[in-house]
Amino acid sequence: MSLIVDIFCVLAFAGLVFEVPGKLALGAGTALMALTAFLLVIRRNVVRRRVAERARDESLAHYQGLFDLPGAAHAQADPRTKRLLRVNRKMCELTGYSADELTGMSFSQLTHPEDIERDLAEFDKLSRGEANEYSLEKRYIRKGGAILWVQAAVTLLRDREGRPVSMLAMIQDINDRKQAGEKLRASEELHRAVTDTAADVILTIDEHSTILSANRAAERVFGHDPQSLPGRKLTDLMPERFRARHLAGLRRAAETGRGTIPWNSVEFPGLRADGSEVPLEISFAHFRRDGRNFFTGVMRDITERKQAEARAAWLASFPEDNPNPIVELDWPGGEIHYVNPAAARLFPELKGQGLRHPWLAGLEEPVKALLKSGSEPVHREISVGDHHHAQTISYMPASRRLRVYSGDITGRRRAEDALRESEERFRLLADNIPQLAWMADEKGGVFWCNHRWFDYTGTTLEEMQNWGWQKVLPPGHVGRVVGKFRHHLEIGQFWEDTFPLRGKDGECRWFLSQAFPLRDAQGRVSRWFGTNTDITGQKLAEHQLQEQAREQQTLYHFVSRLNRASSLAEVYEGALDAIIAGLNCKRASILLFDDAGVMRFAAWRGLSAEYRMAVDGHSPWLPGENEPQALWLEDIKAASLDESLRQVVQREGIGALAFIPMLYGGRLLGKFMVYYDAPHAFTTGEGQLARAIADQLAFAVERKRAEAALAGARVQLEAHAKNLEQTVAERTARLRESIAELESFSYSLSHDLRAPLRAIQSFSQIVLDDIGEKAGPSSTEFLKRVIAAAARMDRLVRDILTMTRLSREEIQLETLDVEKLIRQIISERPELQPPRAELVICGPLLPLRGHQAFMTQCITNLLGNAVKFVAPGLKPRVRISTELLGGDVRLWIEDNGIGIKPESRQKLFEMFYRIDSGHEYEGTGIGLAIVRKAAARMGGGVGVESEPGKGSRFWLQFNKPVI
Ligand code: ADP
Repeated sequence: MSLIVDIFCVLAFAGLVFEVPGKLALGAGTALMALTAFLLVIRRNVVRRRVAERARDESLAHYQGLFDLPGAAHAQADPRTKRLLRVNRKMCELTGYSADELTGMSFSQLTHPEDIERDLAEFDKLSRGEANEYSLEKRYIRKGGAILWVQAAVTLLRDREGRPVSMLAMIQDINDRKQAGEKLRASEELHRAVTDTAADVILTIDEHSTILSANRAAERVFGHDPQSLPGRKLTDLMPERFRARHLAGLRRAAETGRGTIPWNSVEFPGLRADGSEVPLEISFAHFRRDGRNFFTGVMRDITERKQAEARAAWLASFPEDNPNPIVELDWPGGEIHYVNPAAARLFPELKGQGLRHPWLAGLEEPVKALLKSGSEPVHREISVGDHHHAQTISYMPASRRLRVYSGDITGRRRAEDALRESEERFRLLADNIPQLAWMADEKGGVFWCNHRWFDYTGTTLEEMQNWGWQKVLPPGHVGRVVGKFRHHLEIGQFWEDTFPLRGKDGECRWFLSQAFPLRDAQGRVSRWFGTNTDITGQKLAEHQLQEQAREQQTLYHFVSRLNRASSLAEVYEGALDAIIAGLNCKRASILLFDDAGVMRFAAWRGLSAEYRMAVDGHSPWLPGENEPQALWLEDIKAASLDESLRQVVQREGIGALAFIPMLYGGRLLGKFMVYYDAPHAFTTGEGQLARAIADQLAFAVERKRAEAALAGARVQLEAHAKNLEQTVAERTARLRESIAELESFSYSLSHDLRAPLRAIQSFSQIVLDDIGEKAGPSSTEFLKRVIAAAARMDRLVRDILTMTRLSREEIQLETLDVEKLIRQIISERPELQPPRAELVICGPLLPLRGHQAFMTQCITNLLGNAVKFVAPGLKPRVRISTELLGGDVRLWIEDNGIGIKPESRQKLFEMFYRIDSGHEYEGTGIGLAIVRKAAARMGGGVGVESEPGKGSRFWLQFNKPVI
């Protein structure tokens, strides 16, 4: 027996490690090693993922650090939904919403509907990877509905694979700037109002005769809405017969720079909208801009004058009936020969007073002109009492007489007075605009300034008159400003310039200055109307905004680059670029503590090797320094520095420098430095930017270092795991080899054992048969015991063989007709048949997936036990059934046997376990162990439900076959 036990132990030792693990030191060791290797691999993957996640989270958290920078508003959004995830305080101030209200809102909800499309188009470009950022001016709708102009700079952050991770927007308030633009427009409108009040048509055309602008008078003169004129041709405003000539003239003027006729006060007919013609007096001025030709025309409607002249001429031919005064007199004698009835009625004293009469006074000048021109009559206007007369004077050489006749133009003069009055009103208006305003004559001599001008400059008109205004211009600007203004006076075109003007307090403010030329009827510039708009605040704000935007953009670029950097070298490059661009310096360096706590150069720009060697290791802080502060040495000459160090710095041509500490998690990693050639006053903005760069840089350096350490550890771990895997593989192979050897050994041993056993059995039987009754009862008994022991041993060896086979054999699973299988088993075994036992199959039984030989083994063992462990004298009754359990089929074998105590139920399936029930039942204690092994190899299981004295219900469970 001990041999058998030994054999089993060897077997168990070799192959059945998981069945009796407690006893098997080597098997357990192997399993432990495999498990360790497995866990290492799992852990490695988990660590890798965690590190990546942490890096991403930290990177985002760090971005968010930018949010706390003062100045601009910042918002972070999900690039997919464009919804806001995070905003800073400034963003809340800007939009009027609280941070809670903004979170979850989309950019489109904030944007003015008319600007959304533009915004989305830009964002799409970003999403498609055509750009990394964009900037646009758009309108926000604040909480409550007010509109705010902003400049939004949007950056899309991507991870190393190029996937969008986050969307960052920097928003700046540009409302003031936009409003300044509005004010400017308002002042332009004022100028337009000035041209619009002109009684004459003023229009500008290009070289193709296309109208560019027309004033309000066009409506009265041509019957066209002035707004409908731009874009139309001037030829539309002239009779057909002149058009070709006009176009040819324009072409020539464009080519030669000169017109064919001097377009000064030329009489020319115009074409009204209703098709009628209107007599015009036209002046054209030609000017060039950006290589193109333009013409500004002033057109006066002379219908009335023409009619009056014609009527006067006509009436003059019927002096007696004429309602207007007509007089004939000698010239130069002055003796009056004829006075018509109208003249006698209007001027009774005319005859008596002669040339002294107001109606005839001052004739010398017009007559001189008349005699010079020959036959053309001359015209003049003259007042008598409160009436105004338009006189026509003609000379009749034959009789040497003058004929004077006139029409009453009092009505027209009143209109002119009204116009003057309206000019007064205009001045009143100009006095009340927010700008400084002035007027100058055609030569630029100032003759009028509004109140605001005097209020601001504290001067008087006498001081300002003519070119006196130069005294409020700071001397440095006089030459340039005066030069440009003179040039514009010459070319007669709109003037614009920006320069400071000194106020009465001596302080200068910046002004945007503009002046429009106003033209007379002949198109000549008669005066200039100018304004000066205070843009000091705007200029300052714009400068600050630009600076801020530049700094923030630098930072965004930098952080974006850090995110993409794959090595420390790339991190340093990005940092040096950002420092140089953001802090406006040409030289910079990055220094880090080495393992020994000495500050060493890690990267630099523009520093000589001598300098680096000389200052290497120098640091204003120790490695463990608590809260180190940046140091700004604005002037090296005056800085408190070690003298030898100062000399080194000065030799390198450095005039100012700064040390910015780089901290990560409160730990000082090193510093970065900026150098300026000349002394440099550091601004608050520069300080903030420097600290922000240092933060980002420290974070990136630490991350890259951690990544490098991780990569090193990973390599080590991988090498270790590889080693381990190899060791495991080698040992497993060795173990397999010995298992195989042991299996074949135990197999042949079992085989070899059975032959002598059978010999013992059969020879003992022969001896028993031979000596039979002759031997004493005790000898017969001994012989019977030998035979029984041999038979038991044979069963045992057989069972062990079966067990070995179960481990060795390769099997294929198939669908089994389990009912057929059971019927066959029963038919082959009389102990399972009546009258010895009663077996009931509750069919039809469900098929299951298994291996025929293994299944036969399992069922035979269970049925054998079912009919065996029955109380003496009781007929065994067995019920066989199947049940569907999910994807499994359970085969039940229920008996009416002695049952099993609960504490034994688990152990039943162990090798050699037998229950001492008080009865003698044959057996080896291996049967159920075989069932468990075989079931496991078929991918199934076995179990039991039982109560002592009430029978047992054993079950086998396998996969349902796939149909
Ligand atoms: P053996 O039958 O050779 O003793 P088994 O491994 O088949 O060994 O069974 C182990 C023990 O489990 C048996 O000795 C017996 O005590 C108990 N047993 C098995 N089947 C039954 C059953 N149907 N009813 C009661 N007890 C059982």
